Amino acid sequence: MSTIFKKIIDKEIPAEIVYEDELVLAFKDINPLAPVHIMVIPKKEIATVNDVTEADEAVLGRLFIAAAKIAKEQGIAESGYRLMVNVNKDAGQEVFHIHMHIMGGRHLGPMLVKKE
Ligand code: AMP
Repeated sequence: MSTIFKKIIDKEIPAEIVYEDELVLAFKDINPLAPVHIMVIPKKEIATVNDVTEADEAVLGRLFIAAAKIAKEQGIAESGYRLMVNVNKDAGQEVFHIHMHIMGGRHLGPMLVKKE
């Protein structure tokens, strides 16, 4: 089933796109949790990390390559940043189209996960 991210890929709804190539798209998170908070997503619709196959190797590698480029462009490569991929309910995944969060621009603390 398609998600709101598919509509962003198809340019049916607006987003602040910061990077695009033939395999991936990156845009600013609508509800940023850090000064820099960007989503990097595959153009291919894959719901969760549980659904990836070996056929997705190239696109999954490209997510990291794009993340590194974007971090440099956004000026957070040296200061540091966090990459995060939520999977399913316990991680709080809201959009069922794989996305890598890039977060930086401030000290993020030891973990975003709180101890129970
Ligand atoms: P997750 O909880 O990992 O599924 O994260 C989904 C993320 O997508 C959240 O950080 C949302 O703020 C973000 N998001 C949802 N809709 C949009 C949108 N239309 N444009 C940009 N970011 C969005």
